[in-house]
Amino acid sequence: MRLFATLFFLITTITIDAQTGTYFQQEVNYKINVTLDDVNHILYGDEEFEYINNSPNTLSEIFIHLWPNAYKNAKTAMAKQKFSSGDYFMLWASQKDRGYIDSLNFKIDGQHIAYTTYQNYEDIAVIRLPNPLKPGGKITVYTPFRVKIPSGSISRLGHIGQSYQITQWYPKPAVYDKEGWHEMPYLTQGEFYSEFGSFDVKITLPENYTVGATGDLQTETEIKRLDELSKTTISESKNSSNEFPASSKQTKTLHYVQSNVHDFGWFADKRWIVRKGEIELPHSKRKVTTWAMFTPESADTWLKTGIKSINEGVYYYSLWTGDYPYNQCTAVDGTISAGGGMEYPNVTVIGNVGSEQSLATVIIHEVGHNWFYGILGSNERDNAWMDEGINSFFETRTILKTNPNPSKLGAMVGNEKIDNLIKLDKYSYQYITEELSYLLSARTNEDQPIQLPSEYYSNMNYGTIVYKKSALAFNYLMNYLGEETFNKCMADYFEKWKFKHPSPTDIRSVFETTSGKNLSWFFDDLIKTRGKVDYAIGKTSKTEEGYRIKIKNNGDISSPFSLDVVRNGLTISNQWFDGIESGTKKQIQINAQKGDLIKVNAVTGIPEFDRKNNTARTFGILRTTSPLKLAKLTGIDSPDYTQLFWLPVVGWNDYNKWMVGLHLHNQTIPSRKFRWSIAPMYSIAANNINGFANIAIEDGIFNYGIVAQKFSDSTNKDGSGNATSSYTLLSPSVEAKLFANRGQKDWSGKVNASWFILGRRFKNENSASLGNTIGYEQSNLTAGGALNHMRIQVNIKKKFLRSELRLRSSVEGGELTDYGLFQQQTVSYDYVYHGKGKKKIRTSVYYGSGSGFRLNAAGQTGLNDYLYDGLFFGRSATEGLLSQQFLRTQGALALPTTFSADKGLLSFNVEVDAPIKLPIGIYGGIAFLNNSPVNCPNNGEPCSPTTPKQIFNAGVSLPLIRGIFEVYIPVLYSQDVVNEFKRRDMKFGETIMFQLNLDLANPFYLLRNISL
Ligand SMILES: [Zn+2]
Repeated sequence: MRLFATLFFLITTITIDAQTGTYFQQEVNYKINVTLDDVNHILYGDEEFEYINNSPNTLSEIFIHLWPNAYKNAKTAMAKQKFSSGDYFMLWASQKDRGYIDSLNFKIDGQHIAYTTYQNYEDIAVIRLPNPLKPGGKITVYTPFRVKIPSGSISRLGHIGQSYQITQWYPKPAVYDKEGWHEMPYLTQGEFYSEFGSFDVKITLPENYTVGATGDLQTETEIKRLDELSKTTISESKNSSNEFPASSKQTKTLHYVQSNVHDFGWFADKRWIVRKGEIELPHSKRKVTTWAMFTPESADTWLKTGIKSINEGVYYYSLWTGDYPYNQCTAVDGTISAGGGMEYPNVTVIGNVGSEQSLATVIIHEVGHNWFYGILGSNERDNAWMDEGINSFFETRTILKTNPNPSKLGAMVGNEKIDNLIKLDKYSYQYITEELSYLLSARTNEDQPIQLPSEYYSNMNYGTIVYKKSALAFNYLMNYLGEETFNKCMADYFEKWKFKHPSPTDIRSVFETTSGKNLSWFFDDLIKTRGKVDYAIGKTSKTEEGYRIKIKNNGDISSPFSLDVVRNGLTISNQWFDGIESGTKKQIQINAQKGDLIKVNAVTGIPEFDRKNNTARTFGILRTTSPLKLAKLTGIDSPDYTQLFWLPVVGWNDYNKWMVGLHLHNQTIPSRKFRWSIAPMYSIAANNINGFANIAIEDGIFNYGIVAQKFSDSTNKDGSGNATSSYTLLSPSVEAKLFANRGQKDWSGKVNASWFILGRRFKNENSASLGNTIGYEQSNLTAGGALNHMRIQVNIKKKFLRSELRLRSSVEGGELTDYGLFQQQTVSYDYVYHGKGKKKIRTSVYYGSGSGFRLNAAGQTGLNDYLYDGLFFGRSATEGLLSQQFLRTQGALALPTTFSADKGLLSFNVEVDAPIKLPIGIYGGIAFLNNSPVNCPNNGEPCSPTTPKQIFNAGVSLPLIRGIFEVYIPVLYSQDVVNEFKRRDMKFGETIMFQLNLDLANPFYLLRNISL
């Protein structure tokens, strides 16, 4: 079967290759009857569709999507996609929460016919046609069906109580176009591609439901009912609470028809308040009816902006592309789990989005999809930028047109305080909502091209690239072409491709023909690559007619650029130029009156990688250096200023005691390529300056950095007075990312080479030998100077559906380990065994060996953190609470044992989270120690080592904040450990260990690793 399918596919592909260029599209006309059982949440239906083969090929099979089966079990493509993004709901969902389609019984032209599922996809059926379908031929396919409606908290089809979202719900043929069949399993991240045709749908359900649906309602009594509902005031609305009223015993049947659409969705709720509006289309002046349907709970915001936003969406998208070709446009308030809203022809569902402005934004966006998805039906799964991207561009364009001062991010998430905290109001709407989103991905080099199949994107990039970078790209194109030419291109694209399946080549061809320009920089470079746009301005000099300006293209793309002359904050001249080669400079002469500033690519809302190098002053010195601005904490990366941030810091360790200081840094959101920070802190107890500093340069796949830290690590109060020792660690490193930007989001890794330079200092208050008083510092390095140590480490991570495999491999050596060269290998494997709360079984195997350096069977405490790169409160503590802080590295047994091995150490560790809400688990480990024989002092003969050959332990773990603060309580351990504890006279409380990873709690660290 499969072999045949492959062969067939090859043959069709070859046939099609021979006739490229001939566009055709199939036609599917549906008649569906469906009844909602709102007690058991089931749809009973039957469907008949006419399939017309307009292709030049004879079809011997037909692919049919059975997308409700995506909710069937944990093996579906959607379930797997959810697992890979960390959502394990489908793994443990009860039967009640799952969904499926069954009771299928296909008849083709009246003849019963069997179907098989395609490969392992239960949501794709393939039917061998009894008679091949010739070009121009037509078949009628009939089937009854039953849909168990899944929980609405999974994806797009579902119900929350008796609020229904009936989408992707009926058997539906896949698209067959010049590339062949486009069968695709249902996914949450990744949308659809469907054939145009007509729908005739009858929905039967209890009388007191209100329905928002695709198509024109034909049922007179219901038309009247909706009209009346739209006139009732809120206080008259019977359902003033959000409770579901009981369902009527009587049912009603609603009849809808629509043509020139490729999908049919409907939404039903008994609580909805209904509002009706009307909008006159800009070109034809035809009137379109608009409907808003919402729950009493969200009435406030929906009354303010529901109809208004639908009308604005319909009007401006019509104005800028082409008139809305249908009679009605509806937005309903529903609970949706795939983003803030979801689009279907004529009807969109909006989630609970908070503030009035965010509701307006989502409504405009979803209404806009009637054009970019609905009318221009491109393949969304393969080219999501053609719908989400272009639609996001028009969403912003509409918002900026209808709201002169839209508030920023804070308002969008319903929290104005965020606005004030990071002073978003200083920046433009497009800079905050689009440019910064794109830069979050681009500045860390985690970005992906705009053109990729949806399932290849990381979660973050699906938003920051497909939606935001695409919107920026189209705004760039509009500014370059000019609004008039751009509008003409869009209008031509709409006219030529409405109710069809345009491809990337098709939109390009329209834009190039209409504009008369070669847009290779846009369609080949900006869309298909990760290439950055980054123009910089150099020397400017006044000429008789205007200015001579040196422009440098620091970016990767030869894209166009603009030059603005600004006087007193107002642009007095703006000109666009075709791009110059990446890496080159060019002198440009512009004619302009005298200004104060000259800016390259000043327009906001384009993907400019770095705006700090875009402005030059026309007078004074340091004309291209942006002025310095000092601010608290951190902030948005400013396009205009060089930023310096400060914040007070407080630190504590057992030797310096409390330290106070100042943290100065240039870390912005998003981060910049060059970053530094310094945090000197004064210790009153030790009367010295401590702290840390670092410099980092992120350059594509290579990162370079230096970290430095200085703290005291022991104090000694003996007869000679207070002695303090301090250490200074300086560590330059170079790091290369592995698997970067290859569309392999499941793999990540890096190779890191670090050099550790450690210095020690002793300070004695009464150093008798030198006869000095307080404050004398003596350089007393343990090995006559700085100690050097080198390490090369490889980290590789592979994510599987329910598990993760990690490898850490290192080779190191140097003076910090007495010149011993040694290697350490750790392989860890975590498996999610319980979906709720992501409870895991964590295992790891460690092997380390080398020339004489002693490896710990347990993890490293402050005492044996030989690289000095961990943060410990008591670095030299041998007893008490501070000695119980450790890092689970090396043998990693969570036990305060001092056993170590000088020839080789092998250990196995396992930890199992309890399948309950509380952060508790059990752990165990075993270590095998290989030690050199020790020389017995008396006769010089080798005698057996005192260290055991193996030890084990087990206990209870409390991962209070997983990865940051974890506590280990040993319960069981081997006899040698028992003996050690006895010898050291340790009480139970002293055997508890804790891990405190302060690096991970650093917000900058989290920000930088956001997509790892
Ligand atoms: Zn969208």
